[in-house]
Amino acid sequence: MAGFFTKITNDIADLLFPRSCAVCDKPLAAHESSICTGCMLKLPETRLHEHKFNVMEQLFAGKTPIERAAGFFFYERHNKYARILQSIKYENRPQIGYELAALYARKLLDYGFFSGIDAVIPIPLHRSKLAIRGYNQCEYIARGFADTAGIPMLKAVIASRRHDTQTRKGIYERYLNTRGIFSVPRPADLEGQHVLVVDDVVTTGATLLSCAETLQSAVHDIKISLATLAVARLE
Ligand SMILES: [Zn+2]
Repeated sequence: MAGFFTKITNDIADLLFPRSCAVCDKPLAAHESSICTGCMLKLPETRLHEHKFNVMEQLFAGKTPIERAAGFFFYERHNKYARILQSIKYENRPQIGYELAALYARKLLDYGFFSGIDAVIPIPLHRSKLAIRGYNQCEYIARGFADTAGIPMLKAVIASRRHDTQTRKGIYERYLNTRGIFSVPRPADLEGQHVLVVDDVVTTGATLLSCAETLQSAVHDIKISLATLAVARLE
């Protein structure tokens, strides 16, 4: 009976505040949570986790040691799927990040991607940006991975310096821009651990590289893997 009333309440809520698909904007059916079934079926999945030394892992080769790296779907700025990241980051819908990460984590579990991983660490947001946005979208994504894989999420890295927006910068500029922005307040807690660092999207890899380098230099005997929701096809 309680379920019946919950359903009625949800149906009324849908009528009053129609929820729309984060990709195509069409109204969602009651069983759809943030992306409609049609858009979900056509999601441009990378399937990177199915390949050894995949393109995302190659991005970090020779720069910093990375155990494994994978992201859920391909991101192109003018593709309608780019709207997912927009909604998560700027439109107060970070829950979509949690749901997609949980969905991807279920696929990754089948490939042993989380094997040996001790903690999930979100890329932090500087407190000045956090004050404006009200939430860190990476934390929602990291929690989606962590809850599904049954691994704790640790906010072990902090953003000690603010960095400018990366969008209009070149690869080398992005690298310089992200150097020294992160720090690890309690490095001993991570000693001997294998951590999964999580970001919303990987483009040139500059942000993840900077975070991984910080962890490598601050923590004795650490292993690092990376996971994102989106993987940019470089234009
Ligand atoms: Zn849709």
